[in-house]
Amino acid sequence: MSTFLFPLFTNLSGRAVVVVGGGEVAWRKVQLLAKSQAVITVVSPELTPSLQQWVEQGKITWQARPYLSQDLAEVWLVIAASDDIALNARIAYDAEQRRIFANVVDDAELSSCQVPAIVDRAPITVAISSAGAAPMVARRIRARIESSLDHSLGALTELLQRYRSAIKLAFPQLKARRCFYDWLLDGPVANAIQAQQFTLAATLLESALQTPPAAPTGEVILVGAGPGDPGLLTQHALRALNQADVILVDRLVDPAILELARRDALQISVGKQVGEDHHATQRRIHQLMVEHAQQGQTVVRLKGGDAFIFGRGGEELEFLQAHNIPYKVIPGITAALACAAYSGIPLTHREYAQSVQLVTAHRKDDSPIENWEALRDPTQTVVVYMGLQQILQFITRLQAAGRSADTHCALIENGSRPEQRTLLSRLDTLAHHAKQYHFASPSLLIIGAVCKLAPELHWFGEQINTIDQAAPTFADTELAMLS
Ligand code: SAH
Repeated sequence: MSTFLFPLFTNLSGRAVVVVGGGEVAWRKVQLLAKSQAVITVVSPELTPSLQQWVEQGKITWQARPYLSQDLAEVWLVIAASDDIALNARIAYDAEQRRIFANVVDDAELSSCQVPAIVDRAPITVAISSAGAAPMVARRIRARIESSLDHSLGALTELLQRYRSAIKLAFPQLKARRCFYDWLLDGPVANAIQAQQFTLAATLLESALQTPPAAPTGEVILVGAGPGDPGLLTQHALRALNQADVILVDRLVDPAILELARRDALQISVGKQVGEDHHATQRRIHQLMVEHAQQGQTVVRLKGGDAFIFGRGGEELEFLQAHNIPYKVIPGITAALACAAYSGIPLTHREYAQSVQLVTAHRKDDSPIENWEALRDPTQTVVVYMGLQQILQFITRLQAAGRSADTHCALIENGSRPEQRTLLSRLDTLAHHAKQYHFASPSLLIIGAVCKLAPELHWFGEQINTIDQAAPTFADTELAMLS
């Protein structure tokens, strides 16, 4: 039968602890012990530079000699962190005699207590132990819990601690008190803490003590889903997807990402519908966000890439603001960054480019971009977000505006997805080759000398290099543009 270890959180503040060993392992244990304000003595003939520094700063005491049994005379706990098995065994034996707990690093047999893997959101601590059976499993679980608990949890807990008696006084009934705590943990107070607005959080809490909040308030979380690879989601984005009651999804969002969302969340696809213009689509999205949030639901507005890069995120926030709906914004990895990284093209490089410009075809009134001057600079990388046909037209106009026809460029189709393809070309040949290799949307174009690095730095997906291929005839190009 496997051992059941009795879980115990010990208060070591001001209590003596001895660590035997002066290497990296000892250093890790000393750092953890220091958090608990234990009085630490390290016994070891030698120390690593970090431990040495702590000795000099007076944070720990050092006995610069081999271990002696009497080192355990006054201590509450001993940690054996030497790499000498016989010594560790002796320490464990001595500790047993004196009835103090000993942790022998990486030796479950010899240890009378284990140091668990922890997730630290002080004052909340989550400890995971495999009773020494398989620390790897404990570490895996730790990583999962780590990503599911927001870092603001500690601050929120401290706030609740401060108001604990006031809350008890205001809500003497257990049921009402529970409801209030739910509101605190899921509502505007928790949001304010997440946004680092501590005074606001306290004010909200205090006024809710006077006049209890009526219905739970909904909110909208504007989430950048990144370019496709689910691994590029942020931890905040993942948490939001798990919290959502309703998810309003753009056409560009990869289905693999929706797989990660809460199973019972209502998913509504809000891409442009057949025959519908952009304005109608946008109006529908605005309405859906407000309607659901006003019913007290958590609405995730999920957009491809980043919501603030050609994603109309700003317009949606303005609308929410005007309707008094609380919101937050979680950035995503925009297509330019992902396509650049996944095709081995650094957007800036000391030798080739000092600045980057992100451009798209259209403004609100659908007038095309005019500032061709800025796009001509050969030391600037230009990244073009558009449908493929528009990209090809853009290139013709860019050359007409004076950017050199032999400028290197890279067209990345389905950036970061398993089917990613990269086409390396020059401005004057790109349209031809894009046609030849049947490139389609979503594709993104990177223009500039940095693309010269792609053949060497390429690491993901297929790369098609046409740089040294002859330029097509004028007729070829015309054909490509027309078809
Ligand atoms: N908000 C998004 C961009 C929306 S505009 C972001 O931050 O990425 C839509 C354009 O982005 C597409 O026409 C295409 O040019 C580009 N794009 C988005 N995802 C892409 C991907 N995975 N691969 C290549 N291009 C992409």
